[in-house]
Amino acid sequence: MTRLCHRKILGNMKALLTLILIALSPVTLFAWGGDGHQIVCLIAEERLSPAAKAGVHELLGSQHISDAVVASWADNVRRERRETAPWHYVDIPVDAPAFDEHRDGKDHNNVIDKINDFAKMVADRDASKAERRDALKFLVHFVGDIQQPLHCAERDHDKGGNGRLVFFLDQPRAVNLHFVWDTSILLHRKGTTPILLYAIKLNDKISPEQAAQWASGTAEDWANEGHDLARTVVYVGVPAHGSPPKLDETYVDRAADVVEQQLKKGGVRLAALLNRCFAIAPPSGAVAPSPQSEPTTRPIVVDLKDRDALRAAMGSEVIVSGTVVTAEWSRTGSVMRIEFEGTEKSQFYAVLFPRQRPAFDKKYAGDVTKALSGAEVRITGKLQLYRDRPEIILDRLDQLEVTKRG
Ligand SMILES: [Zn+2]
Repeated sequence: MTRLCHRKILGNMKALLTLILIALSPVTLFAWGGDGHQIVCLIAEERLSPAAKAGVHELLGSQHISDAVVASWADNVRRERRETAPWHYVDIPVDAPAFDEHRDGKDHNNVIDKINDFAKMVADRDASKAERRDALKFLVHFVGDIQQPLHCAERDHDKGGNGRLVFFLDQPRAVNLHFVWDTSILLHRKGTTPILLYAIKLNDKISPEQAAQWASGTAEDWANEGHDLARTVVYVGVPAHGSPPKLDETYVDRAADVVEQQLKKGGVRLAALLNRCFAIAPPSGAVAPSPQSEPTTRPIVVDLKDRDALRAAMGSEVIVSGTVVTAEWSRTGSVMRIEFEGTEKSQFYAVLFPRQRPAFDKKYAGDVTKALSGAEVRITGKLQLYRDRPEIILDRLDQLEVTKRG
């Protein structure tokens, strides 16, 4: 969400190095700036339709919208593509009632217009794949940005709080208010919880009624909502001028509630937008699924603890859920078996092979075994017998869902 971000452009080598570093140091690497974007995208991923998942996959290949290199790509290209800088925000004066295209629009170079433009581009099957890929990367980032109140407001030309120094709690060095809302508040509330688990926790708190309400409205409505929050929360108790004030516990607690709410809204809104973008027709170039090849039945829910039910469902697409007792790689590293509470030895395993390990480790904060230990999970896939033992092979990230962390 960094508005005045000057991060280095990630070249391929750097991206590769980054992946290695993530594996080594899951918590610290993206602790600044990018977290909010990844969280919005992780929540959205939980809510994408199958068509949207397929559409995203067609454009991004093995990458995911929640990968840091995708979610923060728009911040990383700002240096070489200067004209994109104003696309991350819209400066609505804090004392104005609402967005005014004529006054605040900067000739359509603002986050509202760009969300609308890039959503159209993503949905446009006649546009080139490269154009749609970039549009998707801009879109997932900007839907995150627009939820940050200081990306939708300014006061006395402070560039969305970038020009206003404050003290965050007892920290000795003053920082700018925009940075506090991009990073400090979230980090303070999240603590050392890995991003994925934190995002899942937030997602679980979203009620269906909230999701329905948040998904409605336009990008302009979302910006006006952020602008309202800037007026009623962000700038309250922060005088426009004078020496830097201290943001105390009361301010930070309230702010953290707002930040979490905005991240949840961002995830819901991004999913709704992408679901619409990809709903119109099958992705260009993709083979339309023939009616015969489409599974005619939805996966059936099977109770892991019921041996007979497992046997009866053999060969079918199933959904199973339970608490993980162990998730360990074999000594040679050739297979990981996930075993569940309440099942006897050899009753059921979920299985992961080394070729999928980097993707799973990456999604699960560097170590999938650690993330699964004691967690409640839901697994979707084809139930099959291996050496007389029912198992599901995890080939794709979306087959595994952590519903409650361990
Ligand atoms: Zn941004």
